[in-house]
Amino acid sequence: MENHVSQKLKTSIEKIMEVNFGNNIKNGNKRQVYEAVLTATNEILAEKRYEYSKKVKEQEAKQVYYMSMEFLVGTSLKNNLWNLEAEDDIKAFLAEYGFDIEEFYEMEPDAGLGNGGLGRLASCYMDSMTTLSYPITGFSIRYEFGIFKQVIIDGWQNEFPDSWIDQAGYWLNPRADEEIEVHFFGNIKEHWTDKGLTTEHTDYVSVMAKPYDLFISGYDTEAVNTLRLWSAKSTSGFNMDLFSKGEYVKSTENEAIASSISKVLYPADDKIEGKSLRLKQQYFFVSASLQQITKEHYKKYGTFESFPDKAVIHINDTHPSLCVPELMRILMDDYGYVWDAAWDITANSLAYTNHTVMSEALEKWPIDLVKSHLPRIYSIIEEINRRFCQFIYTNHPELSASIDKMAIISEGMVKMANLCIAGSYSVNGVSKLHSDILKTDTFHNFNIVYPDKFTNVTNGITHRRWLCQANPLLSQLLTEKIGGGFKKSLSDIEKFNEFYYDEAVLSRLREIKKENKKRLADYIAQKNGIEVNCDSMFDVQVKRLHEYKRQLLNVLQIIDLYRKIKFQGFRPLPQTYIFAAKASAGYFMAKEIIRLICAVSDMVERDPDVRDFLKVVFIADYKVSLAEIIIPAADISEQISQAGKEASGTGNMKLMINGAVTLGTMDGANVEIYEAVGPENIFIFGLSTQEVNDLYHRGYRPEDFYNANQSIRDVLEFIKSGGIGGKNFDSLYHYLMYSDPYMNLADFASYCDAHRRVEEAYRDEARFTQMSLKNIANAGIFASDRSVTDYANHIWHVKPVQ
Ligand SMILES: *Cc1c(COP(=O)(O)O)cnc(C)c1O
Repeated sequence: MENHVSQKLKTSIEKIMEVNFGNNIKNGNKRQVYEAVLTATNEILAEKRYEYSKKVKEQEAKQVYYMSMEFLVGTSLKNNLWNLEAEDDIKAFLAEYGFDIEEFYEMEPDAGLGNGGLGRLASCYMDSMTTLSYPITGFSIRYEFGIFKQVIIDGWQNEFPDSWIDQAGYWLNPRADEEIEVHFFGNIKEHWTDKGLTTEHTDYVSVMAKPYDLFISGYDTEAVNTLRLWSAKSTSGFNMDLFSKGEYVKSTENEAIASSISKVLYPADDKIEGKSLRLKQQYFFVSASLQQITKEHYKKYGTFESFPDKAVIHINDTHPSLCVPELMRILMDDYGYVWDAAWDITANSLAYTNHTVMSEALEKWPIDLVKSHLPRIYSIIEEINRRFCQFIYTNHPELSASIDKMAIISEGMVKMANLCIAGSYSVNGVSKLHSDILKTDTFHNFNIVYPDKFTNVTNGITHRRWLCQANPLLSQLLTEKIGGGFKKSLSDIEKFNEFYYDEAVLSRLREIKKENKKRLADYIAQKNGIEVNCDSMFDVQVKRLHEYKRQLLNVLQIIDLYRKIKFQGFRPLPQTYIFAAKASAGYFMAKEIIRLICAVSDMVERDPDVRDFLKVVFIADYKVSLAEIIIPAADISEQISQAGKEASGTGNMKLMINGAVTLGTMDGANVEIYEAVGPENIFIFGLSTQEVNDLYHRGYRPEDFYNANQSIRDVLEFIKSGGIGGKNFDSLYHYLMYSDPYMNLADFASYCDAHRRVEEAYRDEARFTQMSLKNIANAGIFASDRSVTDYANHIWHVKPVQ
């Protein structure tokens, strides 16, 4: 039966064709109908949004404001139609006029407003919160250019701009009525008045923040939430005052500052960029968002005493850490609160998620930069720091020696994680292991001072996108066997365990995997011109390219395998290694690793002795929509980071729920996957976190592993001697032999051994399918629905609005 929404959509599509193009669907071209479908879908969401936000207001419900520099949204059309349960009807409707909805899906560019896992997590949480009818607003920047397009030329990564707005802008609803002014630079003047000491910010540069709302749909819910993206523009084209003084160039300074702020996403993942523009971006979206939130609150309640009961502002990593001083500034300077009252409100309204323990990613800013760009904010941070240090000296004299490490300002820098911990009522890590490391190691001292602040919420993924939409065949099988309840409540998927011995189901699982492999093989044939064997084992490592994620270890094993096939007559199970990964634009070592993967791919492809057993494919431009094609086709999920370095991982969860078996270290959420599936349904190898730390303190010496292992010697000397297609990889040889902070060689033997165990398991078709089934059936805890419920109950204290 056709639903009400589908009927409305169709009428609306027809109307838009008429009004916008003076045309009808029958005679419309593809681009016109595409625009009409997106616009009509957006309108439905706008109406639902209006009704839902009315209810939220009426009920005076507490709201979550999720602050994140990144939201890796991906595409929206399929997701929205699926959530509205209108996908099949609209597909059929368009087909009547000769349009294939799949072509429209392909026309839509990804909204790539993020780098990787952190941004994708934010988007999964928006989906889950909405599906569970919780009020949440996401805040970020409307980057004109999202994450770059990756093009590989002769093995080398090149970056091209991603102008996504042209083709996806239909989802962006401009709200010129809610523009907000943000101030940079200038001077601070203090005056004594009858209210005490007041502060005046003068000679600042103004930038206007213009909001664009992207509606977030949920499944089987009345709720629609918004992701508010701020775009920067100058307050006026140029400053007439300066212009008339003859300062022509200076008069356009505002314009230049403004237009650069929301131009482009910084393409570095897990690495800080200490640039002036980055700091401006951070303050720009924090200030605009908090000004809006406080303004609305004040209009409704006339006081901020109730603010912590009605609002929680979540800081996704330290990028929005300026929320702490900015909320203080607004409460004191704009609303006249004294310090203690303002601090009470601030520190009870903010919650912070830490995403990494790696030192190159723990944000800090030079004092001079913060002081010059944000003079008022800097003076507030100084006072927060002064009081914080005083508090430690008074209440924890035993920590006096650690004060330099704990201070918010020290060693000429402002330390953003320390600021977040001091200014938030909750600090959480993103997997059990990671949260333990925060407490016992990274923020050990803070945990002594604030033992109740630290907690864990293990990351999750929205299975509606990553299973139901990306893998409709598997979703169909699950619906047949356990009912459709899992779509809303993934814990139901546990029932699939009952089919562990069901030959028919196991055989269906194999057929489905095969179909998904064919879909991926078609994509690879089209993009890479490589024919892959769909009967071979698909071994997949897809994620950002980073040394700590150790794609290099994966390649070393492949080179070892190549050599054993070529020179030692080894005949392994046919296997296809699939990589996809973007490297940060300025990250040389990461780009070298991509070059090595591509060179190995060419070498294998050209070698008739080897290519029937082994294939290596690097698929360019990893992004959400590509992940949706690769992940359902995977047999093996490579999660091989050095133990203690991957905070959680979410790719591991997407692969698991699609039936891939994890080959991984005991790192991040792999530990919890191990607990969920049991040791017989996962392949674990390598040093533990403790062993990594011990080896680090003893001193990691690559030559010890080189000397002890013939295969390591063979592989490294092969690379050095130009064995990989005559190409020079001295950079990587030297890295592995003389530095390598991630100890690739220490885990090499154990990793190769694990690969042989994988092969053996895969040869037993029935057994391997059972492993796969166990992974699917036990993925329930990795639903982002579970994660956000944890946040809602234990951190945010918010309730659904029905
Ligand atoms: C899920 C996802 C990630 C995160 O992958 P990890 O393996 O957890 O690092 C990165 N990029 C995209 C496009 C994703 O969908």
